[in-house]
Amino acid sequence: MDNIFIKEDEVIENAENAIRKNIMGSTEGEALYKDLLYEYKKLLKQTKSLVKMSDMMQLQLHDLSRELERMSNTDGLTGIYNRRFFNEIFHKEWYSAFRGKISIGILMIDIDNFKKYNDTYGHLQGDRCLKLISEIIQKSVKRPRDMLARYGGEEFVVLLAETDIKGCRAVAEEIIKSIEAKDIKHAGSPYFPRVTVSVGIAVTVPDDQDSCEKLLNMADEALYRAKAAGRNCCME
Ligand code: GH3
Ligand code: MG
Ligand code: MG
Repeated sequence: MDNIFIKEDEVIENAENAIRKNIMGSTEGEALYKDLLYEYKKLLKQTKSLVKMSDMMQLQLHDLSRELERMSNTDGLTGIYNRRFFNEIFHKEWYSAFRGKISIGILMIDIDNFKKYNDTYGHLQGDRCLKLISEIIQKSVKRPRDMLARYGGEEFVVLLAETDIKGCRAVAEEIIKSIEAKDIKHAGSPYFPRVTVSVGIAVTVPDDQDSCEKLLNMADEALYRAKAAGRNCCME
């Protein structure tokens, strides 16, 4: 956009010379010429500042739309991805695993006895705990294509692309251990004196394009078994 002004000085100079030649000696002509030149320069200045303003507004618009996109993909409390965005990415990864006949894994993670945590420490502290847990889990979700999202209230989901059952187990166990090691007090829990999580693991090599919900159900059922087995553990 700026390059329309590149030759402005040259143009003005040429115009000045041409006009000067023709009006030489005429006071009236010279006055008119000065007025015209003044108006022209004023207009040019105004146009330049308008172009600058529109450039700035375009940049602001770009930043704003990026921020809006970030907000629509993330969960307000924890800052990790939300369920809507998880589903979008999961569908893509599922299709890619189906085409490449590659294993794909899901971890469904649920905080144990969290209702009691809220009852004991208050909802605000519960929110802080949720945020902290999400940060701890995020540290175990290391590869660029792995994805952690908040699936529901105190439930998280991890998508592990190109990962077999051994790999999924390793991540699940690391998550459980690192949360236990953080030793977040949970005085009201009848199970453990600290905050723990249970994890359901499901892995498959997709054999059709569209049934990714099946894998989520499998992870959910495995999570249920982990709860039944006493919590603070993972099941497949
Ligand atoms: P379990 O070990 O079987 O998972 O027991 P639980 O108490 O964790 O499960 P339940 O489903 O009975 O309770 C989940 C609790 O999580 C209840 C709800 O108040 C709390 N919760 C859900 N979302 C939020 C949130 O955003 N902030 C806070 N502070 N609490 C939440
Ligand atoms: Mg739950
Ligand atoms: Mg729970």
